[in-house]
Amino acid sequence: MADCLFCMIAAGKIPSKKVYADDRYYAFEDINPQAPTHVLVIPRVHITTLNDLTPADGPLMGDMLLLAARIAKERGLGEQGYRLNFNCLEDGGQTVPHVHVHVMGGRRFSWPPG
Ligand code: 5GP
Ligand code: ZN
Repeated sequence: MADCLFCMIAAGKIPSKKVYADDRYYAFEDINPQAPTHVLVIPRVHITTLNDLTPADGPLMGDMLLLAARIAKERGLGEQGYRLNFNCLEDGGQTVPHVHVHVMGGRRFSWPPG
């Protein structure tokens, strides 16, 4: 999508610190990290929110979770643990309308979230 921030980041039109890239996904450092590790993983295809997923997106989203967990383990978080977070719309705290998963770790998170 032409005017989507994360589509532009995935396409290299806006600079970012790349963590991983392939033909389906792009992963990069969050610009405002909330933990020592804070990586965002996005599908290259534009999907606005979790509400827009269809059953056909199951493999895409499943593989995205596998990738997120792999990145967390590659960051050395496999033993201590980490958090994967999806935000959806206003109440969920979504600020960028392109589906993404936050990979966060390196500190202890509280539950429930604030
Ligand atoms: P959300 O609140 O939508 O779940 O998460 C959006 C995330 O994108 C936030 O953690 C925010 O810091 C990050 N972000 C927003 N704009 C940019 C940007 O231009 N570059 C990078 N690397 N991260 C961004
Ligand atoms: Zn997009």
